[in-house]
Amino acid sequence: MIERIVGPAPKTDDPVEEEFEIKLRPHDFANYIGQDRLKQNLQLAIQAAKKRGEPLDHVLLYGPPGLGKTTMASVLANEMGAQIRITSGPAIERAGDLASLLTNLQDGDILFIDEIHRLHRTVEEVLYSAMEDFKLDIMLGKGPSARSMRLDLPHFTLIGATTRTGALAAPLRDRFGHIHRLEFYTPEQVEQIIVRTAGILGIKIDKPGAGLLAERARLTPRIANRLLKRVRDYADVNGDGIIDTVISTRALQLLEIDELGLDPADRMLLLAIIENYNGGPVGVETLAALTAEERSTIEDFIEPYLMQIGLLERTPRGRKVTDKTYKHLGKPMPTDNRDGGNNVQATLV
Ligand code: ADP
Repeated sequence: MIERIVGPAPKTDDPVEEEFEIKLRPHDFANYIGQDRLKQNLQLAIQAAKKRGEPLDHVLLYGPPGLGKTTMASVLANEMGAQIRITSGPAIERAGDLASLLTNLQDGDILFIDEIHRLHRTVEEVLYSAMEDFKLDIMLGKGPSARSMRLDLPHFTLIGATTRTGALAAPLRDRFGHIHRLEFYTPEQVEQIIVRTAGILGIKIDKPGAGLLAERARLTPRIANRLLKRVRDYADVNGDGIIDTVISTRALQLLEIDELGLDPADRMLLLAIIENYNGGPVGVETLAALTAEERSTIEDFIEPYLMQIGLLERTPRGRKVTDKTYKHLGKPMPTDNRDGGNNVQATLV
């Protein structure tokens, strides 16, 4: 099976993928395309912290995968002249793992925790006093002779990334000084990212070719870069290596990616709602069972983009498709009195 274009970040144990990531990752604000409001806010925070000679306050970045949260963390480290340690919520299994990470930091260092909503409760609790007072409470021994000790920690900055702020416990969320949402990119910004990546990798692509790929990259830099790589392979084998609209169109056909950037799994999900539930609403658990996708894959990877482009709506009673979905999939609109028909009209673009 071909790996989906819409997938999680590559595992860092794949050296080829990792090298690719490192090469493409912008290192400063100037090369970080888009997200202007985020950049303005964080630039100001950095200037203020530098002026006071203090580390940056803790930062929480949230938004769909592939929009540049990890990248922004390394830009912040670079702009602060700080060292960065990168880890993820599920990788920190015990409170002791976090304790050893924290005690190995130095003043001003940045600790980046991806998928912070997946931290174990016991680990999360250790983080509270670390973030607030730069203290680490540890228990020595067991039973009646156990005693607790407080250790001083270096003044570090925690940068947390999550796809869902809702999944974060309030005491953790409240300890972040800066909380920012990353937005989907515009097609023009995605085109700039494609041109930048092509430049770094020495890929020849003309402007219309870049524009076409940008329209189908789900407004997401990671997907834009992956598409570019796949289309380059096609251009090398079936053309003279130059990516234009003809080559892009053919390669995307082969990848079964349509004009809105949907792949077969997206279409299957939408068709399942139309064919089995008359357009919805239908609960996410049922959808997961119907499409054989994990619930979290639907919520994190598939749904946000479909909602962004108005093909899917989330209601208290479940997910439902819109008029635009019927049109896009070439399916006749149901003639019966569909739930919320009037609201659906308003989402047409
Ligand atoms: P996230 O952490 O949100 O899942 P990443 O930071 O890993 O996303 O970004 C995915 C890839 O997209 C990175 O390898 C980077 O090369 C590229 N990228 C992300 N944001 C930008 C941006 N603003 N400008 C240029 N490239 C970007």
